[in-house]
Parts: sequence; C-alpha cells; structure tokens
Amino acid sequence: MEGEDGMSEHEGILVFSEKYDLMLEMLGKGREIADKLQTELAAVLIGFNVQEKAGELIKYGADKVYLVDNRALAHFQIETYLSVLHNLAASYKPEIILIGSTRNGKPLAARLATRLEAGCIPDCNRLSVDEQGRLVCERITYGGNASAKITFKAKPQIATVAPRAFEKPERKDQSGQVIKLDVKVEEPKTEVVEIKPVEASSVRIEDAEVIVGCGRGLGKKEDRVLLDELATVLCGQVGCSRPLAEDRKWFTEWVGLSGHKVKPKLYIACGISGVIQHVAGIRDAKVIVAINKDENAPIFEVADYGVVGNLYEILPALKEALKKQLG
Ligand SMILES: Cc1cc2nc3c(=O)[nH]c(=O)nc-3n(C[C@H](O)[C@H](O)[C@H](O)COP(=O)(O)OP(=O)(O)OC[C@H]3O[C@@H](n4cnc5c(N)ncnc54)[C@H](O)[C@@H]3O)c2cc1C
Repeated sequence: MEGEDGMSEHEGILVFSEKYDLMLEMLGKGREIADKLQTELAAVLIGFNVQEKAGELIKYGADKVYLVDNRALAHFQIETYLSVLHNLAASYKPEIILIGSTRNGKPLAARLATRLEAGCIPDCNRLSVDEQGRLVCERITYGGNASAKITFKAKPQIATVAPRAFEKPERKDQSGQVIKLDVKVEEPKTEVVEIKPVEASSVRIEDAEVIVGCGRGLGKKEDRVLLDELATVLCGQVGCSRPLAEDRKWFTEWVGLSGHKVKPKLYIACGISGVIQHVAGIRDAKVIVAINKDENAPIFEVADYGVVGNLYEILPALKEALKKQLG
C-alpha cells in the first residue's frame, strides 16, 4: 500500500551491480545514507556459485545480503536479472535502489523503474539525503557543462551510480545476515551465443592508476608505440579520444562523455584538444598533464601541468627521463 504522498511504506536500501568492485563502492556510500536514514542496507548478489562473496559484502557494509544463486543467472541477461530485482523490490519495498551505472546496469535500472512505476536518475556521481529524507542525486549534464541536482517525488527512488564516483570502503570485521532466496527466474528472450574476452590492453581502463591518452595529434596508428612505451614505464594504460576509436578505428574504446569516465592518479593527454566531451571523462583525474603543440588548446585550461610542443619530440624524451628516474 502506498501512502498518499507516494513516499511512505518503503524502507531500506537495496544495492546491486553485476560488477563486484562497483558494488563495494556503492555499499560505502549506501552505508552512509542508511545510517543517516536509520535504515537497513542490503546488497543483492545474483549469479551462479557466488555464495562465497556474500560474507564479503557484509564486511564492506551490508546489513543483509539477498543471495540469488541459480544456474540460469550465471551470465548477465537483462530479463533474468530484471525478474530477480523486480521480485525483490516488490516484496521488500525498499525506499532506495542503487544500481551500478554500467552498460548492463543502466538499462536494467530503467526497466526496473518502468515495472515499479518509479523514478530513475542515471549516472549519479554524488548522493545525499535532504531534510525530508529524500535521496538527492547529482549528475553531469549539458555535455559536461553543468551539474544537475535531482530528487524524487515517489518511492522507490532508483539511481544508477557511476563507477569510481565513490571510494571503496574499508573492509571491517562486522556481522550481518545472508538470506538465500529461491526467486522464480523469468525465461530470457535472448540467448548468449558466445562470450569473447576483449584485448588485454583495453581491459577496464576505469581501474588504471595512470593513463596516457592520445588524440588526433597522433599521425599514424603505428605511432601508438610512443604512448605504449611511456605507459609501460609508468605501469599505466593507453586511452584515446573518441575520433581515434570511432572514426579511425585504431582503438575499440575511448575516454569521455560518451565513453569511459576515468579516475586515474595521473592522466597524460597527448595531442588531445580537450573539448568538453573529452574533459567530462577525465575531470576526476588527480593530476592532468597536457602535451599539445597549440598553446591555446582548451586542454591547458584543465591541466595541472602543460607542455607546449610536438608530442613526437616530447614523448620519447619524457620516456627516457622517467626511465632514468624510476630505474
Ligand atoms: C555527442 C558527442 C559525444 C562525444 N563524446 C566524446 C567522448 O566521449 N570523448 C571524446 O574524446 N570525444 C567525444 N566527442 C568528440 C569531441 O567533440 C571531439 O571531436 C574530440 O574529443 C576531439 O578529439 P581530439 O582532441 O583527439 O582531436 P582534435 O580536436 O582534432 O585535437 C587534436 C589536438 O592535437 C594537437 N596536435 C596535433 N598534432 C600534434 C603534435 N604533433 N603534438 C602535440 N599536439 C598535437 C592539436 O593542437 C589539437 O589540439 C563527442 C562528440 C559529440 C558530438
């Protein structure tokens, strides 16, 4: 039964992501919100043979873990995972549902919101609670030019949370409850035919602590070796702006508003102009170094350190200097 204001009758916070690290990040923030609202924080663990992870989720802040372990859930499929989450949300009526903002998580949250006739705010990078106890979500909008603060008029309040928006909490020795559920899994309308791993070099750039990013300043595909070498010295990964992936097909993924949002300790932008769509993906980097031959390139406005010059001269020199320095 829904209260007249659409906000009562719901209690507790549910957190789900098919990405384990993101689940932990959300548990950290979820714990903070649950304590503020004096309510319970529950993680939803879905998959096959995943029970050993349940105890860990408690150590990272969950009061409860709803464990749904079923062969049919071995791989993410939107219909099956949606049926589990919908079932849980309909039974437990949480006031907040946080879902990891991944390629799978975003459509999952949208469909769940439709089924529950609830609001859904995607890609949140800040979460708080207002004086009425409503969830307040912040997200980047207008192509990275503004930040919107949005709240809800009804419950459950569903938000998707961007990877690395929040720090992974400390693991603590705490106890909680693991509740094994036998949820009816909907028959999927799609079938996984094959799963292929992506190239090792492009795996989870979001996790890289150092990223050497290249843009259209790079003349030929083969010249990528300059960036690879620098990334190797710094134990980092190579990333790129969208045109290098989408237009030139030299990479499969890119960094930016429509690509990966990254949060490295160091981002070295080489031959990248630094327009807003690219910067939207790197604004959380701790230190940005820009190498660009145009001193008026917008990347210098966001860079902590800038080198005006030709990347073909600077990258080999920088690599040699760092090699000497780092041994
Ligand atoms: C809806 C939408 C979403 C988008 N999403 C993204 C996104 O997620 N990520 C993204 O990156 N882009 C995105 N874009 C594209 C974006 O608008 C830019 O076109 C793109 O970021 C430009 O890439 P770039 O900086 O590599 O190239 P350019 O803008 O062409 O810049 C190349 C830079 O290299 C410098 N340069 C050239 N030669 C050298 C040299 N030898 N040494 C040093 N510097 C040199 C130049 O001075 C220049 O500043 C999006 C666009 C749209 C419309």
